[in-house]
Amino acid sequence: MAIIVQKYGGSSVDGPERIRAVAQRIVNTVKAGYEVVAVVSAQGKTTDSLIEMAKSISKTPPKREMDMLLSTGEQISISLLAMAIDALGHPVVSLTGAQGGIMTDEHHTKARIRKVDGARIRAELERGCVVIVAGFQGVSATNDITTLGRGGSDTTAVAVAAALDAEVCEIYTDVEGVFTADPRLVPNARKVTEVGYGEMLEMASLGAMVLQPRAVEVAAIYGVPIHVRSSFSPHRGTIVKEVREVERVVSVTGVASDDNCAKITLVGIPNDMDILCQVFSELAAESINVDMIVQASKDESTTDLTFTVAREDKVQALATIARIQGNRSWTVLCDENVAKVSIVGAGMMTNPGVAAAMFEALKEKNIPVQVVSTSEIKVSCLIPRELYKQAVQACHHKFQLENGN
Ligand code: ADP
Ligand code: ASP
Ligand code: MG
Repeated sequence: MAIIVQKYGGSSVDGPERIRAVAQRIVNTVKAGYEVVAVVSAQGKTTDSLIEMAKSISKTPPKREMDMLLSTGEQISISLLAMAIDALGHPVVSLTGAQGGIMTDEHHTKARIRKVDGARIRAELERGCVVIVAGFQGVSATNDITTLGRGGSDTTAVAVAAALDAEVCEIYTDVEGVFTADPRLVPNARKVTEVGYGEMLEMASLGAMVLQPRAVEVAAIYGVPIHVRSSFSPHRGTIVKEVREVERVVSVTGVASDDNCAKITLVGIPNDMDILCQVFSELAAESINVDMIVQASKDESTTDLTFTVAREDKVQALATIARIQGNRSWTVLCDENVAKVSIVGAGMMTNPGVAAAMFEALKEKNIPVQVVSTSEIKVSCLIPRELYKQAVQACHHKFQLENGN
């Protein structure tokens, strides 16, 4: 029998009515002839509340203990959903990440899945059960609970789908699919019917929250088709899969934005490769992801180095820089009042003038650009944070991505 993995996000299980609706959808899928594994997130804003709770106790909670705390959110939803399915008269079992065989590395709060041991899930499916697996969590080689970073249930679902060779991984959320921009920022954004892994990975990495980037990466590696769709409607959503097109007419597929970044500038550091290597290797050793990087030499001996990190990594990044700096007289600046706006599209590779059009769109709205970075299929601009909604709308309009086009 074919297996379907369905992932339900926090808003999909927020309250008894919604949990019952999810239970019904799962049972309907079983009745349609599938074996179902459901991966579930914590309800509503539970994870945010748990983080606040930790902050009220300590400014620097140990990451291992954060994982111990955060993993409880998902445990509430799996048990409640299992109860709702049981109430519909269908056999069901809920499993934590560890019970479900989600093995990770030991990087607490940002762990990566190393392997999914699907034996237990398979055994439960064979017994005729619907299997509910807690998203976002796993277990390390030292038997400690780990979590996969915000939005990590998407990755649990895709990894489980890959391990079980599922027909599809359905991601149920609070929007109808992947849009040309966040529909909360651009109300007339258009739903995309189909998108390739490469473009989706860029969109997700550049701030389109709808899928965790790591989930797209895992899907691409194992060739798992993802169907992003709404929990609240029966409509077909967006299929994320390998897309091969000979020629692209559209240069830009979507606009993404990220207002959760911080810009760090090291002013007047020595102009040598040793410092560059040291800064970025020590940040990497702390699992801090560095994004845009600009180096501007002032003269032969000194240079300014600017880069961006996620805002939650700011304190740790500054501490790492301070350690490297020792008693040398650099100036370190940190600006959180920034946001990154990006245009994404595989068609950019063959259509010149895309970056120029983006700069024009921003110029028309008097939006200054502080840092630019590009890849073959994206252009990103760092801009003042208060202007990011306007910037997203301007770019979206410039590339005629609206509904009806
Ligand atoms: P879930 O709790 O179901 O995992 P998320 O909040 O993580 O849901 O992701 C869904 C949200 O992603 C949507 O409500 C939407 O505001 C946001 N989003 C950002 N960019 C996009 C996009 N391009 N297409 C669809 N949704 C997007
Ligand atoms: N509950 C976790 C979060 O809020 C994981 C997820 O929702 O995917 O980030
Ligand atoms: Mg999510």
